[in-house]
Amino acid sequence: MIHRILNKDDSARYGLLKLGHCEAETPVFMPCGTRGVVKSLDVDDLKKLGYDIILGNTYHLFLKPGIEVINEFGGLHEFISWDRNLLTDSGGYQIFSLMKFRKIVEEGINFSSHIDGSKHFMSPEIAIEAQRDLGSDIVMCFDECPPHTYTKKESELSLKRTLRWGKRCKSVQLKEHQRMFGIVQGGMFGDLREFSATDTVETGFDGYAIGGLSVGEGKEVMYEMLEYSLKNLPVDKPRYLMGVGDPIDILEGVGMGVDMFDCVMPTRIARHGLLYTYNGKLNIKNLKFERDKNPIDPNCKCPVCQKYSRAFLRHLFKVGEHTVSRLLTLHNLYFMNDFMRNIRKAIKMNCFNEFKSSFLSSFCSNSVNKT
Ligand SMILES: [Zn+2]
Repeated sequence: MIHRILNKDDSARYGLLKLGHCEAETPVFMPCGTRGVVKSLDVDDLKKLGYDIILGNTYHLFLKPGIEVINEFGGLHEFISWDRNLLTDSGGYQIFSLMKFRKIVEEGINFSSHIDGSKHFMSPEIAIEAQRDLGSDIVMCFDECPPHTYTKKESELSLKRTLRWGKRCKSVQLKEHQRMFGIVQGGMFGDLREFSATDTVETGFDGYAIGGLSVGEGKEVMYEMLEYSLKNLPVDKPRYLMGVGDPIDILEGVGMGVDMFDCVMPTRIARHGLLYTYNGKLNIKNLKFERDKNPIDPNCKCPVCQKYSRAFLRHLFKVGEHTVSRLLTLHNLYFMNDFMRNIRKAIKMNCFNEFKSSFLSSFCSNSVNKT
């Protein structure tokens, strides 16, 4: 068993995920190293921040530098000098979201690269073989990620193809340390989500992801679809909500029994000057910080808050110094890891709901919209 649940507080779970390179406590947030790097940081930064799993993206690495190049180094861990766990997304989502040209057939997807227009073909087998060669600890099934505007008929056809593709993914032999996660789809239809989960579990995977959410459908619908998706998943396998990393959504997800999250949001908003604090988001570009001697968050223990003032960081941002991306990303990723640590602590102490209410009341009372 790769996931041991050590405590449950209602539906929220505290556990230990045993993967190929190290153990990771759950619930966990995983930063995105899409092209083999978490933008503006390096692997030592991530280790110091305490991260045990990061993401890589098969689609991007498949195009550049190419799986064969990474294979010559012995895999993605060696290529990027990361000795902790890696999860690789299959590339399905990128092919659906980035491509101007794509043609889906039963065998797979023909698409043109978003970089240079070159033509490629990706199938479930190719996506899994690529991840096998990358050597990631968690390999994701190749799925179709439909837009939230699909009709019920379109969503059903799409999810059934994902289910057939899931079975083909499973037929590819992985390396011994690798684990494969199936992906629940079903669009914005509760019964399709339940059906997808049941069939995916019948195929049998090491863990289960929920895909196709947080794609513009609105929070209420997202939480409802999440509930349907989770209902038929086994309690003893890890559950991963893909592409979701907003602190409020993480709390909702954890409350429903999700163990793993990833999102580009904390790193992306940092590069745009938006910072997470327990008192809401802070916009470092704001004029009111021009002479502010305080750190981003006086209670934060991150290396940036130990050293630099809001005024200095604002100055770097305003004059366009690259260093500011790194400093602001360090703060936001420190926050995310600290936030997850506090969530785990609350579940261990059976006070997750109290933590959630108190976090929400301070985080939402002073959001960026009001600064
Ligand atoms: Zn900080």
